Amino acid sequence: MAKEKKAKGSMPNKNVHLRLSFLHQAASYLAHNAGGPAELRGNEETDANSRSVKRPRPHTAQTRHLLSHMKGVSRKSVIRLQKDVKRTVCKGCDQLLDDQSSTRTVENKSKGGAKPWASVLVVKCNTCGTAKRFPT
Ligand SMILES: [Zn+2]
Repeated sequence: MAKEKKAKGSMPNKNVHLRLSFLHQAASYLAHNAGGPAELRGNEETDANSRSVKRPRPHTAQTRHLLSHMKGVSRKSVIRLQKDVKRTVCKGCDQLLDDQSSTRTVENKSKGGAKPWASVLVVKCNTCGTAKRFPT
């Protein structure tokens, strides 16, 4: 009994890749759409005081849970996360690193910036202070 050959172009562990993609999309959705659609929020928008006060992001814990789950799934199934996905997750606290929750700076620690190719993009998490460095 010969083992059936898989069709060309089929992706091994497709369901795991789909799961990882879903978890990342769900986390970024929760992080960016804070309180749901505007019509559901209703009274919050009419409150005059709420405009001046910067509201905390409500789904931070769920976002972290989804992203830590995503990292766990990729670790267990021995599948690497894509580079652009991996770079949006904090190593320290599993927070989604976007414009609101992280600080991006370019630093060059060569002698007074003498080597322009030594520039490094530093993404610092505002929650835990962990920094990620990427060559630019
Ligand atoms: Zn962090």
